[in-house]
Amino acid sequence: MDQIIGQHRALEVLQSAFVADRLHHAYIFHGPQGIGKFTTAVSFAKVLLCHEAITDHQAQSPAKVGACGACASCRLLQGLESSTHPDLHVVNKELARFSKDPAIRNRKLTSLPVDVLRTALIDPVYRAPQLGHRKIFIVDDADLMQPMGQNLLLKTLEEPPQGTIIFLITSSEDRLLATIRSRCQRVGFSPLGHEAVQKWLQLQKVKVAKEHRDWWLDFADGSLGRVQLGLQYGIADWGDATRTAFDAMARGQYPVDYGSQIAGQIDDFAKQWVDKHDNASKDAANRQGVGLMWSVINLYACRQLRNQANQGEPGESGAAEEKFLPWLEVIEALHTTEQEIASNVNMGLVADHLVSLMYQALNPGRNQIRLPAVLQMQS
Ligand SMILES: [Zn+2]
Repeated sequence: MDQIIGQHRALEVLQSAFVADRLHHAYIFHGPQGIGKFTTAVSFAKVLLCHEAITDHQAQSPAKVGACGACASCRLLQGLESSTHPDLHVVNKELARFSKDPAIRNRKLTSLPVDVLRTALIDPVYRAPQLGHRKIFIVDDADLMQPMGQNLLLKTLEEPPQGTIIFLITSSEDRLLATIRSRCQRVGFSPLGHEAVQKWLQLQKVKVAKEHRDWWLDFADGSLGRVQLGLQYGIADWGDATRTAFDAMARGQYPVDYGSQIAGQIDDFAKQWVDKHDNASKDAANRQGVGLMWSVINLYACRQLRNQANQGEPGESGAAEEKFLPWLEVIEALHTTEQEIASNVNMGLVADHLVSLMYQALNPGRNQIRLPAVLQMQS
């Protein structure tokens, strides 16, 4: 479990339970997305399934645990997709693609269908482990189970099958029934610090330009999942575009193309997302793109606020407030336009509105739009 970055407290809970032989029959791993909950569940599952798991008592307390790497179970898991192990069951909404029922197969993936849960967990949960040791079920995005599915699962949790451990992974724990939560041991995962994100970038051999390093650490927001997504979809370019536009606005120039650029980048993101994910809905992908774009602009505004705060001399609070105001208004503009998107206003219009609000925030009292030099010459 060495490859898990950060999350010392969560690992401590799991490793001590393992060493003391006081494992719970069901766990809820909760915390923000992309911080290693699923990765930890899979790594821990390897240890639990290992026939000769190693406890390193030399290591700091609690003793470190690891899989032997040589037993029948470990050999099955070596370098292979975890789905090839007969006693390791990963349950997620993507399994719907393999459903016998075409209606379920072709449905847009917004929940974990009850039939999928039944086939992948409820039915096999009472069968004996094929390798004769343990059985592990990992339900990813467990909050996507509808109440009916959750009630089915509750019955299983009430009569826990021998030698079986169930992990429910969720970033919205409040969507799980209270009765489910009370029957599981809850393990909290926290957002990762800058150091952990940096360590991960190094381990993954991701080359990040020096001038982009702080941007990535901000963008990560403690989540490696966000960094992976950002790398995959070229979100650093959005950061560059944001900086360029704000530089122009700071000079009093109106960034005429910025609105359509925002809308275009979101649209490109959504198209790529739908291409890469079977059954993904374009609407949901658009919403995700908007969320990302708004967070990129928000990051920029927050960084400016931080810079202002660091520059401020103690005692000159009045002047400082004035410096903060434009950036607070930029953040306010993000909230306002977010609501416009929620009420289905055309994306291009919303983006243009956002740009005009941000321009006004940074150039108060300037009603006249100052055109860029090139356009002024043409007119
Ligand atoms: Zn082993």
